[in-house]
Amino acid sequence: MSWVQRRYRQQLNQVMAERAIADLSGSAIVFAPHPDDETLGCGGTIIRKIAAGAAVKTVFMTDGSQSHASLMDTAKLAEIRQQEAMAAAKALGIEATNVTFLGFGDGQLDQHIAAATDRIYDLLQANPVDEVFVPYHLEPPADHAATYEAVIGAVKRLPVRPQIYAYPIWYWEHWPWMGPAGSGKRDALRMLKASFKSGLGTALFKDFQHAVYIEPAIAQKRAALNQHASQMSKLEDNPQWSTLGEIAKGDFLACFFQNYEIFHRPSL
Ligand SMILES: [Zn+2]
Repeated sequence: MSWVQRRYRQQLNQVMAERAIADLSGSAIVFAPHPDDETLGCGGTIIRKIAAGAAVKTVFMTDGSQSHASLMDTAKLAEIRQQEAMAAAKALGIEATNVTFLGFGDGQLDQHIAAATDRIYDLLQANPVDEVFVPYHLEPPADHAATYEAVIGAVKRLPVRPQIYAYPIWYWEHWPWMGPAGSGKRDALRMLKASFKSGLGTALFKDFQHAVYIEPAIAQKRAALNQHASQMSKLEDNPQWSTLGEIAKGDFLACFFQNYEIFHRPSL
């Protein structure tokens, strides 16, 4: 990691310390487009909220079946990812009865926004909560944007609206939060564009005005993430089996193990 990258991370720690949410006891539902997004984006927050006495549930929107589609039968991968999601939830302290799988096809959620919105509305009606967590709307994967859209659509229909917190996953994918190391030429170009679009990494300080201090929960967060073994290790002895740790030579994962998880509060 370059000194510029280290400097940005120091800056993040300083800035977010002033934005740390003090009361973590509000009940919450974390909506994850894929199994692993909940832990990456909100794992430390979930751990700390449960320690503060909050009731926390998680909802997985898609089955995650396409992450390694060319290497494994997708039905088998979907089954594995569901088991991993349950194990990760347990490691975070979420009870099995508080985990819901909506089972939409990985990569297809944007074709089912209306159905997803209805399912989420029913869930939120039956389980009123203080807060909902969704992916940040300005990140590229279609399932992430679709999750945001469906949850916002459902929340707008509720008579009493929970507070919405949006967490970044792929939004981190720009310099200097991530270096170009290890990415191909096309990825490097995409990252360069994203970097300029986001003010060379500074937009994040403007967009994410809320944070949770997760340093005390980092070891447990790491243990939970490791439960997503299909994403963290090579399930098959094949160099083509990509892992989260390989992205940008570890810079990507490092974004989620800083001392703060950061959140954007959209205004509806
Ligand atoms: Zn995802």
